[in-house]
Parts: sequence; structure tokens; C-alpha cells
Amino acid sequence: MDAFAKKYVESFMNELIAKNPGESEFHQAVSEVLTSVAPYLEAYPYLLENKIMERMVEPERVIMFRVPWMDDSGEIHINRGFRVQMNSALGPYKGGIRFHASVNLSIMKFLAFEQTFKNSLTTLPMGGAKGGSDFNPRGKSDAEVMRFCQSFMTELFRHIGQDTDVPAGDIGVGGREIGFLFGQYKRLRDEFTGTLTGKGLAWGGSLLRPEATGYGACYFAQEMLATRGESFEGKTVVVSGAGNVAQHAAEKAMRLGAKVVTLSDSDGFIYDPDGFTEEKIAYVKNLKNALRGRIKEYVNQYPSASYTGGGAKPWSIKCDIAMPCATQNELNGDAARTLVANGCFCVTEGANMPSTPEAIEVFQSAKILYSPGKASNAGGVATSGLEMTQNSIRQKWTAEEVDSHLHRIMSDIHAACIKYGTEEDGYINYVKGANIAGFIKVANAMVDQGLV
Ligand code: NDP
Repeated sequence: MDAFAKKYVESFMNELIAKNPGESEFHQAVSEVLTSVAPYLEAYPYLLENKIMERMVEPERVIMFRVPWMDDSGEIHINRGFRVQMNSALGPYKGGIRFHASVNLSIMKFLAFEQTFKNSLTTLPMGGAKGGSDFNPRGKSDAEVMRFCQSFMTELFRHIGQDTDVPAGDIGVGGREIGFLFGQYKRLRDEFTGTLTGKGLAWGGSLLRPEATGYGACYFAQEMLATRGESFEGKTVVVSGAGNVAQHAAEKAMRLGAKVVTLSDSDGFIYDPDGFTEEKIAYVKNLKNALRGRIKEYVNQYPSASYTGGGAKPWSIKCDIAMPCATQNELNGDAARTLVANGCFCVTEGANMPSTPEAIEVFQSAKILYSPGKASNAGGVATSGLEMTQNSIRQKWTAEEVDSHLHRIMSDIHAACIKYGTEEDGYINYVKGANIAGFIKVANAMVDQGLV
């Protein structure tokens, strides 16, 4: 970065932090994008004159609301609901809903900001948003989750719609929650539209939407590996998380010939040195999605695997490829150094912002393949975009059709990263590539649409 870009980033970040105190995840996400695009802004002064970056970090709208609900014993609980409608330059707001105890405004804003660039990268007409609540679905009965979802939607419904804002799932929001949210939306609006994505297959959902984020991350990793003449075949893969993204990343990596040896949750991780099989993945899906169990139960079923508790993460396990698929900042500088020292040469993010800035620095200094979530996990929202299209034309595509769209989108995103991220020595800086490619389209659309 030259002196101008350095000074621009520093003064921009100082102002952002002063104006948004305590929002550390939001600061982190903005700083990463800004560092990539500052030289680009300098080269195109009309973007500076139009104060595009200043406008991008100010959400178009933030909705914060009370979500009261009653548990099965009759006790009343009050949670906080959010929807951050960040940017609609490219299309209706689009982004998931997260139910997790850690949810706060900073996390919602970081996710909505990232989503804007990710959605741009997919080339589909979608703006950026994110929503959620500090409600923790863990240990709640189906009836409690339903009452919570109905209360949440009783406020949210007035702010969303198929041409306005189309939410989807995220951490803690899967098929069950989307069903309850959609049911209440339909009841309140008296209309059956594609306003939520991730719907059940019988009522407007797209084939392959549940698989899309994890599968898409593997398609992206295949492209990355191919730049070095490599593939998944025979590689050892470490995956974190045990939810939607992790399950399908592990499944696809295994089907592409890799030995996938770990999964985790917030309590710890399992290590299966023999690698997962179709049967073992099916067991995990049933354990997590139907029985809502914990990942440690895996070792009861498969005793040759081991479990490490105390919130441990799987990054100490020797591997060729790492796929963080749980949550933000789950992979720090020390973990990154361990991975690199153990020979890991490819890190493909399935989660949003799972690597800390220090970890990214370690990967990039070691010149290993590293892709940020906004590029490699974009297959989820891309397939949500395909679900919206199918809903609009009232048709249903086959799994093969959806998969071929997904494959093409992931390889187009990879090509965009190469175009904007290849450095003088030939190293592909996927962070820079994804940020600039995502940014340009949104920025120019904002300029075209005037000062709004
Ligand atoms: P799920 O709720 O299905 O699974 C989340 C997994 O991550 C669980 O195993 C959970 O464990 C673990 N986890 C959550 N929080 C923490 C934490 N603080 N520390 C350690 N582990 C944690 O979510 P998804 O699989 O849908 O989402 C995972 C990531 O992928 C998120 O970053 C999400 O934003 C991102 N993503 C998801 C997309 C999708 O289509 N679903 C699309 C694009 C990105 P536990 O049960 O203990 O909480």
C-alpha cells in the first residue's frame, strides 16, 4: 500500500471506530475490505468523490426489536431481534438469519457488510443483509422454537418481501426454523411467495440448497488446488463445525477422494484417523439434524475415533487442507502457525470470517492457498438466489441443473479472484481478489443510482 492508501485507511478506520464503538467484528470486516480496495479507490477518484466507502459502511436501515415468547413451563423470555439491511444497490436485500446467544449489533453488521460483497461476487441480483437474535435454540423443545420463530416473524414480516428483503438460514436456523418463520409470514401476509429461502422441498425449496454452501466451498477449493496441479484425491482434510456447512463440506471432500478426519462443535472436536465414510456422515447428519445431539456422541458409535473437549479446536491435527466451517474468529494466529508447520497448504473458509487477521497474515506470508469465506462460501447464497428464480418462474429445477449452476458460479468467483488478486510474483491473494471484484460492481451501481 502506498502512503495515500495507508493514510486513507487509518483515518477512515479511526472515524469508523469512533462512530461505532465496541463493534469489534464490524471494525475487523471493514478494515479487511478497506485495505484491499484503498489502492483501487485512489486509482478511481470518482469513487472517493462519491464517498462510496463512507456510504457502504452505513447500513441503509437497521431494525432492532423485542421478541417476547413463553417457554413450555409458562415462563416469559425476552430476546432481541435484528435485521440489518446493508445495501440494496444490486437487488433486494438478501442474507441469513442467525439464532445464537452471541448475536449482537456488531456481529449482525459485520455479516451484512460481508454479505454485500459476497452477493455481488455471485453475479446474481442480490443486495446484502443479515438478521438474527440472541435466542439460543440449544435445548429448546420444538414447541418453544416455534413460538419464538412466530414472535420473531410477527415483527420482521413488515420489513421483508420477495422484492424487498429475502432472509435465509445461518447458525441456529435450519429447515425447522425456516418452516416456522415461513408459516408465520404466510399467515400474516396471506400470500405464498419466495420471501424466505432454504424452504422445504415440497413447498418451494430448491434441491441442493442445504448442501450448497459446503459443496460450493469444495468446488472452490478444487479450483484453488488446480492452480497448483493438486486435487482432493488422497489429501487429509480437517473440518471444523458439525452443522449444515461442515456436514456438506466433509461429505463433498470425502466424495472427491479426500480423507476427512475431524468435525467439531463449541464443546470440542472429534478426530477419526480412519476418515469419514458415507455411513459415518449419515450418522452425523442424523445425530445433529434429527436428534439434535452433540458431536462427542460420535465416539460412542465409532470407538476408534477420539474426542477432545474443553472447547478445543481441530487445528492441531496434521492435514493438507483445512476447512473452517463453524464461526467467526475460530482460527487464530497460533492455530494458523500450527497448520502451516504441519504441512497444510490450502485453507478454504466455509464459515464467515473464521480466520483472525493474524491467521490470514500467517497464511499469506507462507504463500499457501487461502480463500476468505465471502468467496468460498458464496455457494449457499447463490443457491438461495437460484431458489428465488425458481419461485418467481414457478418451476423446479433438477438437482443436476442446480449443481451445474452452482459449479459455474463457484468457478466464476474463482476466476474473478484470480483477475483482481494475482500479485506480481504470481501469488493469488484471494482476499484482495474477492474484495475488489465484489466491491467494483456494488460501487458502480451506487454511483449509477445517485445519492441515495
Ligand atoms: P449451524 O448452526 O448448522 O452449525 C454451526 C456449527 O458451528 C455447530 O457445530 C456449532 O456448534 C458450531 N459453532 C457455532 N458457534 C460456535 C462457537 N462460538 N464456537 C465453536 N463452534 C461454534 O450453522 P451453519 O453450518 O449454517 O453455519 C456455519 C458457518 O457458515 C457460519 O459462520 C455461517 O455464517 C456460515 N455460512 C452459512 C451458510 C449457510 O448456508 N448455512 C452460508 C454461508 C456461510 P454448537 O452446536 O456447539 O453451537
